[in-house]
Amino acid sequence: MITTNTELLSHAQLRELTRELSVELARVQRRMALAADETPADDRELVEHTEHQQALAVQREQLTHALDRVSDGRYGACIGCGAAIPFGKLLLQPDAERCSACATTPVPAGTPPPL
Ligand SMILES: [Zn+2]
Repeated sequence: MITTNTELLSHAQLRELTRELSVELARVQRRMALAADETPADDRELVEHTEHQQALAVQREQLTHALDRVSDGRYGACIGCGAAIPFGKLLLQPDAERCSACATTPVPAGTPPPL
């Protein structure tokens, strides 16, 4: 059971992290647009190119999900146990979904691997 808790972060902290998420999302989208224009020269480059685009797509999804959680008031709460994720951890990784304890336990199948 994940509790909605807007007291996890102060308004100023939430504003700062939301800005970080938005800036990062814009950066990922720009890199995806650039990557889409690149033409791989050979098979090896094609593999790298595809992996790069997939990694960017995963990042974009994680950032979008984080911004969704900001919108519905769940941002900053661990999706595993509902505990508050420390502000310091969110500053380093604004799209973190789990507290440190849950991040070290195995994630369910279908969850994208951490980058
Ligand atoms: Zn947790």
